[in-house]
Amino acid sequence: MKITSVRAKTYEWKGKTVPPQGNFCSNAMDLLYAKEESMQTFRFHGWTVVEVETDDGHVGYGEVALAPRVAKQIIDLYLKPLVLGQDPWDYEYLNQRMYRATHAWGRKGIGMAAISGVDIAIWDLLGKSVGKPVFKLLGGRTKERIPCYYSKLYRTDLKAMQEEAQKYLDLGFSAFKMRFGYGPAHLQHGVVENLKSVAAVREVIGYETDLMLECYMGWNLEYAKRMLPKLARYEPRWLEEPVLADDIDGYAELNAMNIVPISGGEHEFTLYGFKLLLDRKAVSVVQYDTNRVGGITMAHKINALCEAYSVPVIPHAGQMHNYHLTMSTLASPMSEYFPMFDVEVGNELFYYIFDGEPVAENGFVQLDDDKPGLGLTLKTEYLDQFDIIE
Ligand SMILES: [Mg+2]
Repeated sequence: MKITSVRAKTYEWKGKTVPPQGNFCSNAMDLLYAKEESMQTFRFHGWTVVEVETDDGHVGYGEVALAPRVAKQIIDLYLKPLVLGQDPWDYEYLNQRMYRATHAWGRKGIGMAAISGVDIAIWDLLGKSVGKPVFKLLGGRTKERIPCYYSKLYRTDLKAMQEEAQKYLDLGFSAFKMRFGYGPAHLQHGVVENLKSVAAVREVIGYETDLMLECYMGWNLEYAKRMLPKLARYEPRWLEEPVLADDIDGYAELNAMNIVPISGGEHEFTLYGFKLLLDRKAVSVVQYDTNRVGGITMAHKINALCEAYSVPVIPHAGQMHNYHLTMSTLASPMSEYFPMFDVEVGNELFYYIFDGEPVAENGFVQLDDDKPGLGLTLKTEYLDQFDIIE
């Protein structure tokens, strides 16, 4: 089997979107001046789909969600020539080839995201070529089904947040992640608002559920140190990305306080990046995304690393490329789950591109033992709502 074609197609949503509301999620731009800009950088309305085809007609799908137009350029110009004509079963060699050939400028960020898209597509077609789901190639089923946590609850009106929490509690979810709307720039008023929102959600979901708290890098170390003791009484399972992804000392300091477990990793890359986080005890939960770290080949190694360090892996975003790895490793107790909504920040856009993404039932997602590859096909229903750059 040889790879005969690599196609990167960028899907840009041009359909209706829900406008961002108020302080719906703190983020890294909050500490800068322009508020409008801060909210704009938080939207992701494009996706690059990678199709890798072989001489015997198998097509695998991968995807890149970061800077999708740039990712397409990297794939077209740099990665495609490295994998064309190669045997996809040599996936370790191909992954190393892409990683090493782009190392001078790749390493972290968009270079690794582009590699991830190609690697995921290769695994999808390998599964299809032998009629097995990808998780069966990675170690198989380690759990009956995958527990998942409801991940939305952006900071809006508190009543609306409570109604949202109630609705998904009634649908059977027993774990929830909410977003803070305020950070250091909002002074003590923001501290009070942040605490009010946590109290409001706990009031609805009670204490026999997990509650996770998301900062999306919108805080700083000093603010996070002040917030942790105030948050402890709400028994959060973790506090996510309190500071910039590069501030590993900051993560380590907060995690060492042992007040609330600190999580992170959705903006970290490669085996080396995660070894550093683990060596420094910077996070209590690892949250890589397979479509950023270097694909399934790399994520599988990071799983092994986390197992050895006894740190759970709960990948960013859910989605098939992560669910298959979660199913196949005991180091991964659950998944994040983005529900399908009208297009808002873009976290839901993959449902508009792919068919086959599992829908949670009673707080669990299931993978099919008999569905080859990742189990995804391209959706036609919303095609006219996208500009597609080929
Ligand atoms: Mg996150």
